[in-house]
Amino acid sequence: MTERLELRERILDCTACELHSTSCGPVPFSGPAPASFAIVGEAPGAEEDKGGQPFVGRSGQLLRKYLVDAGLEPDQAFICNTVSCFPHGTPSPASIAACRQNLRDQLDFARVSTILTLGSVALGAFRPDLRMTAAHGQTFALPDGRTVFSTYHPAAALRRADWDEALSTDLLRFGRAIKQGSWVGLTIELCASCRIPEDGMEEIFFDNAGLPYCQKCWPASPGGRAEAGKPVPVVGPPALVEPAHIPLTERQAVNLIQHVFPGTVVEP
Ligand code: SF4
Repeated sequence: MTERLELRERILDCTACELHSTSCGPVPFSGPAPASFAIVGEAPGAEEDKGGQPFVGRSGQLLRKYLVDAGLEPDQAFICNTVSCFPHGTPSPASIAACRQNLRDQLDFARVSTILTLGSVALGAFRPDLRMTAAHGQTFALPDGRTVFSTYHPAAALRRADWDEALSTDLLRFGRAIKQGSWVGLTIELCASCRIPEDGMEEIFFDNAGLPYCQKCWPASPGGRAEAGKPVPVVGPPALVEPAHIPLTERQAVNLIQHVFPGTVVEP
């Protein structure tokens, strides 16, 4: 059996939380792998639950329209959800935690370097410390080097005109950045503690919850305390990727300089 079929069957057979019995069953990913980029939504809606495909309802249609407007091909995107079963509302923290392994497996299978998150539930799966109002239209790095760009969920955009405008504008920026292969000017602060690193970032330290810290804040963070053998007061949700110390890539360094000193031109 191919990797694709194996993964689909594993998700379809999942009974790790109560949602499998209160919905028509899990709705696995769609799209190619490897893909140009991955889209992570919140959870299937009623139409997706019946149809067994992600983003086939009204929000999916709006998303496809805005992706096309941004010069992207929706069919080239790998699409999945933070929670794979229809939750009849906002998914509970228990279902999000139970489905985390499914999300991780799907993103690993997609083999993408860029992930587009839609809505605060999907954003929270990667950076629970960030709020959509501050994070939308911008990117942050994961410990393994993947880039996450976050924006509003199209279902929210269908409810409010200002969110609709933000989604459309964000996706235009996303499309431009994908085509240019550069996130310069779109990176949000890298350190989960001091938000804007004052001393420069020669290294990023990621804790078990996948949160990034600068070298100055790392010793007092839960990950730094664990590393030093000190008691850890707060334990976050399991990370989608392994904790790591990584040197800044050239691109991240440029993004950081552009963030701290807006308007700075950095020669490649
Ligand atoms: Fe499994 Fe996720 Fe469905 Fe829960 S929501 S039963 S974890 S596939």
